Amino acid sequence: MERALNFNAGPAALPLEVLEKAKDEWLNYSGTGMSILEMSHRSPEFESVLNHAKKLLTELLDIPETHEVLFLQGGASLQFSMVPYNLLTEEKRAYYVLTGVWSEKALAEARKLGETITAATAKPKNYTTIPSLDDLQLRADAAYLHITSNNTIYGTQWPSFPDTGSIPLVADMSSDILSRPLDISKFGLIYAGAQKNLGPSGVTVVIIKKDLIREDASHLPAMLNYHTYYKNNSLFNTPPSFAIYLLSLVLEWTKKNGGIAGIEDINRQKAALLYKTIDESDGFYKGHAEKPFRSQMNVTFTLQSEELTRKFLAFAKEEGFKGLNGHRSIGGCRASIYNAIPLAHCEKLADFMLRFKKMN
Ligand SMILES: *Cc1c(COP(=O)(O)O)cnc(C)c1O
Repeated sequence: MERALNFNAGPAALPLEVLEKAKDEWLNYSGTGMSILEMSHRSPEFESVLNHAKKLLTELLDIPETHEVLFLQGGASLQFSMVPYNLLTEEKRAYYVLTGVWSEKALAEARKLGETITAATAKPKNYTTIPSLDDLQLRADAAYLHITSNNTIYGTQWPSFPDTGSIPLVADMSSDILSRPLDISKFGLIYAGAQKNLGPSGVTVVIIKKDLIREDASHLPAMLNYHTYYKNNSLFNTPPSFAIYLLSLVLEWTKKNGGIAGIEDINRQKAALLYKTIDESDGFYKGHAEKPFRSQMNVTFTLQSEELTRKFLAFAKEEGFKGLNGHRSIGGCRASIYNAIPLAHCEKLADFMLRFKKMN
C-alpha cells in the first residue's frame, strides 16, 4: 500500500511505525487477550500506559518538578474556557495576544468569564505577523498572558517567547508542541489538542505549573477544575484511553528519532525546502507570513490569482496530495508539515510546485 501524501492540518498524518505497532497490538494488548479499547481504565495495564505517556512527555520536553502533566478531553477549545475558569479570578484581568482565529476564539471565551485585555493584535496586518510586546506593561493584577505559539490557519509562529516575569504565561501549543525545544519553566500553563503533533484527536495535553492548581476552587464543576485531574492522575472519570495509548506510541517514536532535537532538525529542513521553493519562484507563489514569523509547521501561500490557486489545488489533488487547501476561513494553500510528515513528502511537494510553475 502506498501512503498518502498527507498534508492535512488536523487530524493529521501519524508516523507509519506508530500505526503498525497499534495494528500489531490491536487484538491482544500485551498478552491480555483483549484490545486496549476493551480494557478497564483502572487496570494496571492501562495505568502503566498512562504513566508511560506522562513519563515520556516529561523526559522529551524536560518538564521540571514544578509542573504537572494532565490528560483531558474537549480539545484545545475546552481549554479556552478552562483556563479562565481556573485562573481568572474576580479581581484580576487576563491579557490576550491576538495572532489569528484560535486566539480570537480563546479571547471570546475568556470574555464570558471575566475581565480581559487585548495585549496586542496582528489583526490589522491580516495576521501576517506576530506583534511586538515591547511596549506592553502587564499590571500587577494580571491573571496571565495568553498566546498561541503557532497559528495553524495563518501560518505564523512565535520565534521566541515573551518574558512575563511573575505573571503566568499561558500558551496554546496545539500545532507546534514537541516540534522544538522549550523552556517549560517560563510557562504557567501549556495546552495542546493532540491531533496535530502528538497523536489522534480525543486527548488534550495540559502542562501546568503546580502552584496554579487551586485546591480552593471546589465551586467549579469537577470536570472543569484542573485540581480534579491533578488529584486523580487524570483518572477521575474514564479518560480517552485509546488516544492516550496512541499518544504514548507517538512519544516513543519521537524519542527513537532523536527526541525533540532530532525532530526539530528534520522540521527545519522540511520548512526550509518549501519556503525556498516559494521564495525562488519569482512571485509565482506568495507566502502569507512575514519571513521572521513563518511557521515551521503550517506553510501558507497563494498563487497570483484565485483561478490559478484553484488550478494548483486541483492538479495537486490529481497527483495524490491531500489536504493542501487553506482553512475555509481564508482560502489559499496550506501545507501542514507536522513532526510525522516525512522529508520525502515535502520533497515531492516542492518538486510538484516547480513542475506546476513551469507548466503555467
Ligand atoms: C486545531 C487548533 C485548535 C482547536 O483544537 P480542537 O482540539 O479542535 O478544539 C485550537 N488552537 C490551535 C492553535 C489549533 O491549531
